[in-house]
Amino acid sequence: MSEPYRTVSDAVLPIGNIVAMEHFLDAIQSGASGDDLAAMPIPQSYRAAYVRRDETKIFEGVASEEKDPTKSLHVSDVATPELAPDEAYVAVMASAINFNTVWTSIFEPLPTFGFLDRLGRESVWGARHALDHHVVGSDGSGVVVRVGSAVRNWKPGDRVTIHCNHVDDQDASAHDDSMLAANQRIWGFETNFGGLADLTVVKANQLMPKPAHLSWEEAACNALCNSTSYRMIVSAHAGDLRQGEAVLIWGATGGIGGYAVQYVLNGGGIPVGVVSSPERAELLRALGCEHVIDRQAAGYRFWSDEHTQDESEWRRLGKDIRSLIGRDVDTVFEHPGRQTFGASVFVAGRGGKIVTCAATSGYMIEYDNRHLWMKLKRIVASHFANYKEAWAANQLIADGKIQPLLSRVYPLAQTGEAARAVQRNEAEGKVGVLCLAPEEGLGIDDAERREQIGEDKITVFRRST
Ligand code: NDP
Repeated sequence: MSEPYRTVSDAVLPIGNIVAMEHFLDAIQSGASGDDLAAMPIPQSYRAAYVRRDETKIFEGVASEEKDPTKSLHVSDVATPELAPDEAYVAVMASAINFNTVWTSIFEPLPTFGFLDRLGRESVWGARHALDHHVVGSDGSGVVVRVGSAVRNWKPGDRVTIHCNHVDDQDASAHDDSMLAANQRIWGFETNFGGLADLTVVKANQLMPKPAHLSWEEAACNALCNSTSYRMIVSAHAGDLRQGEAVLIWGATGGIGGYAVQYVLNGGGIPVGVVSSPERAELLRALGCEHVIDRQAAGYRFWSDEHTQDESEWRRLGKDIRSLIGRDVDTVFEHPGRQTFGASVFVAGRGGKIVTCAATSGYMIEYDNRHLWMKLKRIVASHFANYKEAWAANQLIADGKIQPLLSRVYPLAQTGEAARAVQRNEAEGKVGVLCLAPEEGLGIDDAERREQIGEDKITVFRRST
């Protein structure tokens, strides 16, 4: 059994040693140098959003959609962990909600404390993670305030974004494609000390330069979804998109879907985007996607009952795609899972592929294998991105070739409400969370570059809500 979690109220802090993360905020906002930041003491506790081990059964017997993250996500102070030699403390200015925080907060498909316990058994440093609280969050932007003794490429004062691929670089299996590493984990989901907090602990190889033309919250919302879509569409590890290829994108104004649309357009492909309302159809067109299907208006019923799929409905979707682009798609960008997977396998063209990274509506999938093998299609699994892919995706944001998809912003204190909105499919693109940043719009270091790229492009989803 690990130590019970400590909060500010029950942590015994020596008098005169109470330093709060607000001191770092003041220093960062007044332009303190890296040396100044390095000289400031790290507080013994910090504000964070977390779930509790003793609450993992609170939703027993409740339907998935009724499991409410506002009841399980708490925001208060937690004890600061020690820093390992290959890690950095980052003062988090902003973070974002990802669907993995929704899964953690409703304890589905299983409580994430099992991940933390497994990590805890791996090493002395891993043991720090096995606590009775799990600080969540897999995105972040902020300022490095301390680095471990083995960190070479980063220093206090660096303005960064954080990607979520957590790997042990002393493991041989991490040295081809690090997503194949035996101990690959997602930071803030399969590790503790995530980004929905005022402070986070990350491995130095999770850090990337913050795009200078973006605000903290615009910079914070990209890394997880943007990198995932980069691998699914662009990388030779999964999508390997060629010019002229057509891609069906489910949830095309959602977190990963909105970046996927941009990658297909940038790569000379033809996106066919699926959304569920006229407003989202309009937003998708504003993103440059000409071919749009409103699945709500079309009223597809791929499942006639809980156990039976209706092939005529798959055919209807296929016809709708052909009526838009005159042919079948080469790739399907698949993540809804059980509800759509049978249709996705059916509508991919001969020799095409179904690239899948998730199963939001259910992970026990059914499809008609005859349509797969007779037409030589492939199902390709994809999961987040390795450092090189995440770096390339971050660079494309910095270059203004891919735009952030921030649509709304919550304060850290309302992380539960923010996660609830994502769970209920109420928000487009990305939902940002302000951590140390006291208001929106701060952190833009290169206003000239922002103007060159265009305010209207950068804020295309922000203006939608
Ligand atoms: P979002 O909620 O932002 O977007 C998902 C979109 O999918 C929604 O906007 C909705 O669009 C569409 N959708 C939801 N349910 C269905 C359904 N039953 N049928 C068709 N479309 C549906 O989530 P994200 O884009 O951030 O993530 C999507 C999934 O991918 C999640 O399960 C997430 O956990 C996973 N993921 C996996 C990653 C990995 O590395 N493996 C990384 C990132 C995400 P509309 O209603 O407009 O059609």
